[in-house]
Amino acid sequence: MKLAELGEFGLIDRIKANVAASPSVLLGIGDDAAALSPTPGQVTLITSDMLLEGVHFDLSFCDPRTLGRKSLSVNLSDVAAMGARPRHFLLGVALPKEIPLEFMDGFMAGMLEQAQRYGATLVGGDTCASKGGLAISVTALGEQRPELVLKRSGAKPGDLICVTGTVGDAAAGLKQLFAGVREGFLVSRQLDPTPRVEAGVALAEAGVVTAMIDVSDGVLQDLGHICEMSGVGARLELARLPLSDAYRAGCGDDLFALALSGGEDYELLFCIPAGKEAEVAALCAKVDLPVSVIGEITAGTGMKLTAPDGSSYTPPRRGFDHFGAD
Ligand code: ADP
Ligand code: MG
Repeated sequence: MKLAELGEFGLIDRIKANVAASPSVLLGIGDDAAALSPTPGQVTLITSDMLLEGVHFDLSFCDPRTLGRKSLSVNLSDVAAMGARPRHFLLGVALPKEIPLEFMDGFMAGMLEQAQRYGATLVGGDTCASKGGLAISVTALGEQRPELVLKRSGAKPGDLICVTGTVGDAAAGLKQLFAGVREGFLVSRQLDPTPRVEAGVALAEAGVVTAMIDVSDGVLQDLGHICEMSGVGARLELARLPLSDAYRAGCGDDLFALALSGGEDYELLFCIPAGKEAEVAALCAKVDLPVSVIGEITAGTGMKLTAPDGSSYTPPRRGFDHFGAD
């Protein structure tokens, strides 16, 4: 069957048929708006991210299922970065008319499997035809107790700067994709990132984090946001950056460039008071995620980067900016 035969409402019904019921959803897909019942004592965190063909993804690089997973993952990562638990989401899609129905089926299968994994229910959205490329917009809603919500502001001089997992993999994976590589660890980190939901919630609930962000635009750019919002500076020790073996092998001449400025790792970057590192390591170990201390928050402004030999390091570029120079 073709998308044209199914039509807009047939497609919406097809999507709806695969969405599991949830007790918090009083009204889901099918009415003018969804009705959700909030968990008592919790606030709603809401976030939105667009993925545009040719800007955020290339259909020749990835299969529809993986794209469906990633489209949700990048939003769940923002919910996690607030220390919140994902609950619901909306999906807007603009589809080129010629896109095969199997593409949408695969895309939805990926998105809904990721949704189920992280406890989020699809409650609505919008569907229209695109005269350009494929466009995807996801709005995710999460919940947390208000006093536990983690913001970008709140970092204090003397705090330790931590990051989960490894950094630079997704950017190195993108480089490989452009070179024709289609599989392997780095490529999968680019195409199918893991939102650090369990770690984000555990860190919030432990009450040890002073500021948090997810690494979507690169460590420097995202740490820069924490510094700006917190009114502080930072000192990073590059020898402490967590780099995977695959990254070391595939990053090119400058070992630190992509790890500092490459985006899309979707790791959590956060600050904790000095002395809390063992507690935080234990907490992340419980959710099977390594965590590294990579530097320290300083008074004043500005970022100082120290290379392994003690010299100061200047990165070739800071990070991703949609309107910045290429
Ligand atoms: P309206 O015309 O009132 O905006 P629509 O016809 O666009 O409503 O949508 C009908 C129902 O289907 C709504 O509940 C909407 O949230 C849902 N919906 C539309 N597109 C999607 C989608 N891509 N994913 C999930 N739900 C969708
Ligand atoms: Mg309506």
